[in-house]
Amino acid sequence: MVSATTSPSSEPSGDSAGSSRHIESIPETRAKAADTTEDVQRAVHRAESPIQYLGLTWIGSKRGASVRFHQEDGAVGAWHDLHTGCAGGVDGAELIDSARAASALVPAGGAFGYELSLPDGAESVRLIAIDAKQGPMRQVALPAEPTRVLGQRYLSRAAWGADETKRFYEDGTESSPPKYYPVQALSVHHTSTPNNDAQPAATVRTIYEEHASKSMKDYGDIAYHFLIDEAGRVYEGRWSGEDGIPAHDKEGNAVTAFHTLGYNSGNLGIALLGTFNEQQPTDAARKTLVRLLARLAKAHKLDPAANITFNNPVDNAKKNVPVISGHRDWLATECPGGTLYGGLPALRSEVAALVTR
Ligand SMILES: [Zn+2]
Repeated sequence: MVSATTSPSSEPSGDSAGSSRHIESIPETRAKAADTTEDVQRAVHRAESPIQYLGLTWIGSKRGASVRFHQEDGAVGAWHDLHTGCAGGVDGAELIDSARAASALVPAGGAFGYELSLPDGAESVRLIAIDAKQGPMRQVALPAEPTRVLGQRYLSRAAWGADETKRFYEDGTESSPPKYYPVQALSVHHTSTPNNDAQPAATVRTIYEEHASKSMKDYGDIAYHFLIDEAGRVYEGRWSGEDGIPAHDKEGNAVTAFHTLGYNSGNLGIALLGTFNEQQPTDAARKTLVRLLARLAKAHKLDPAANITFNNPVDNAKKNVPVISGHRDWLATECPGGTLYGGLPALRSEVAALVTR
């Protein structure tokens, strides 16, 4: 297990092995991937434990997918349409047309089975049933003091219950060994999960499972560098080394994550938990987003109001984007939701005001 430690630069560190720790119990994440060698649309997929979220990906049309859930007592719910969300993707992989990479994370409310109807021509379907709420408890040792970096208080991976074994294949190899690059851009996402989320840490564990699982996206880790919940709490995302500094190495380079297919190296990804197609984030979440962007812009000497030509150091893929961009500035996706995206110009001005102060 990785230790959460207090911050580098401004504060002395190194007392993480001391007595200032407490033990917390966090449920293990249970997951069951479906057998997709059969026709997934003619089967009722069942799970042994309650399904809190159903994760799906496929290649094909993003419209016309629907799902219905089966309850433990045999009751079958109504079909409802799926809305696809932030798909992510790795650098250096064979680039697929992002307009055809569909991904959805659907709340299942404790169902025990599901059926699917996917658009004609859907291929490479992957399905996983996830429960990050009711599994057996794991004991996690956490620092008594909240972890801070650059003055930003955040929940370390240990604090939200990241099981670090999930970053490794069964033979012990790390599925995505970290690589670090100077930061050029800061990208904003939404997680396309429900708003008014009563258990955001469980949702973060769910997203981690769906992104890291070998049966699903197989990124080896959660796609984002940071996540922000509706109460304005920051969660450390993608693992970035043993030094306790989230998202970065000691030289200040950012670990490459998986939030923007083909443009990840040197691109920090921040995801707001929720769906912002028709509503704004909470004031608390937005305030935290502005502050975090300002801290990162300052640390990386980025002009929050500028546009740049991003140059992926891995393969020289170039893209003209705002320094503070939305996922859809990079490629075809609804992410970060039309309402949040529409608010980015005002947000950039607020970040710029904080940076120059
Ligand atoms: Zn996104």
